[in-house]
Amino acid sequence: MPVVWSDRCLLHDPGREIWVGLPTEASEVPARVDRILDTLARPDLLLAEAHDDEILKSIHDADLLRFLESAWDEWQASGLPEDPGQTRVVPYIFAHPGLGGPLIEPTAVPAKTGFFAYDTMTLIGEGTWEAARAAVDVALTAADLVRRGEPVAYACTRPPGHHACRAAYGGSCYLNNAACAAVALELERVAVLDIDAHQCNGTQQIFAGNSDVIVGSVHVDPRAGWFPHFLGFAHGLGSKNLPLAPGSGDGRWLDAVDSLVAWARESSVQGLVISLGVDAAAGDAESPLEVTQEGYREAGELLGGLRLPTVIVQEGGYDLETIGPLVLETLLGFESAL
Ligand SMILES: [Zn+2]
Repeated sequence: MPVVWSDRCLLHDPGREIWVGLPTEASEVPARVDRILDTLARPDLLLAEAHDDEILKSIHDADLLRFLESAWDEWQASGLPEDPGQTRVVPYIFAHPGLGGPLIEPTAVPAKTGFFAYDTMTLIGEGTWEAARAAVDVALTAADLVRRGEPVAYACTRPPGHHACRAAYGGSCYLNNAACAAVALELERVAVLDIDAHQCNGTQQIFAGNSDVIVGSVHVDPRAGWFPHFLGFAHGLGSKNLPLAPGSGDGRWLDAVDSLVAWARESSVQGLVISLGVDAAAGDAESPLEVTQEGYREAGELLGGLRLPTVIVQEGGYDLETIGPLVLETLLGFESAL
């Protein structure tokens, strides 16, 4: 299958995350893409083509896009990197719904961040916007290939996108690459099936109440203490959530993937976007689901069995030793079912 990427995706360096008020080591690092591409060992990688903002603007509010594009420049101009010495854009106050309203976009630079960010883990630095925008181009280029007749294309996107909402960013995600791909397929009805270990709160929110793009997710039960904590239990119009207990392993995880596949089939979709996170794997510190490499291969087979025009979009996966083989096995499994 064609593999699309952009070297601009490497420009985002979160530096660190802020967790319980303390800086911790960043897990969403540029080396993730290097490891995937090293393992795929494809001499015929396709570089993403630049796309205009038309689809992006149908997915995200203009205010969020404007903020993300200018956040680093404004932060730098405000002097915050020198005093008090914060070299990444990070919120300190949030536009919490409990404040009542109406809430207005603030003018103070550090406060503005909390109008659009919903966590402290998703920092913005010098190359963040360029990388996030390039990841959208990667997803859109893969969708172009599928629209023109390729049965499947893999978009090696980074930063990931499935936690990015219509007007807010978080969960190491800025722009929703998979949502852009779903629209770009230009089909009457598309399913986004998300097998990342964490629920795709952004993708589900973006398409809530929209039966043209249905969004299903298998993920670790947020009530067991996992991101995105507040969301990921209910089924709604065009959405299906299958939360799993920690330690579920291949058996229950693959049953859930199979249920999502059956749901897509029953929903008569004409196209598929797979949000491929490999952080459900055993050995990935970001989830306790304990899925094996064979499990990921089998998930690829189940999804490929739908035999739909498909864009595979990279989401999470943080163990640098296993991320490459996990992605490769999933893609091989998918191809074996075609
Ligand atoms: Zn994840």
